Amino acid sequence: MSRTEFRANKTASRELRPLNFQGQYLCPVCRHGQIAGLTLMDAFACDFCRHIFTANLNDQSLQVVDSSQPMSWRWNGRTWQVAHRDEFNLTAVIWIVSTVLVVLPPALVWLSAYTFPPLPDSAWAWFPLAWAIGTFTIHFLMVFWLMAEHYQLPLYVASKIRLQQLFRQRQ
Ligand SMILES: [Zn+2]
Repeated sequence: MSRTEFRANKTASRELRPLNFQGQYLCPVCRHGQIAGLTLMDAFACDFCRHIFTANLNDQSLQVVDSSQPMSWRWNGRTWQVAHRDEFNLTAVIWIVSTVLVVLPPALVWLSAYTFPPLPDSAWAWFPLAWAIGTFTIHFLMVFWLMAEHYQLPLYVASKIRLQQLFRQRQ
């Protein structure tokens, strides 16, 4: 292979690939499966997370139709770009609720322990701190789950499906 041929090959593999129903693309939801066109339908389906998408080939965009989160992406020839998340308000509310959930309860626990400190030589002196840490951890996990659901984090979606598959095999 000559040098120019090699260079030509390299450009070919880097060439932009348009979105069409004959192609296969990485799934934008789970970032694990491949989405391919459904026969006789203007739609794509993922072979891993089973989500269904409608596509608008004119503006090279894709929208998930069977999810509670109305998400869409734009294909730039190589990869997906998030085109639209749901309305800004819901995201703002989720962030405010999350911050309050993570900060407020442990702060209250800590404040009560700070205002009425246990006797230093009491056997339960460790309890307020442990309680505050426990409260923080549990609320943090709740908020993490909320965020993962809201943003449909690819790693979270993929592990959820793996767990479901594992559970199904056991039955
Ligand atoms: Zn998928």
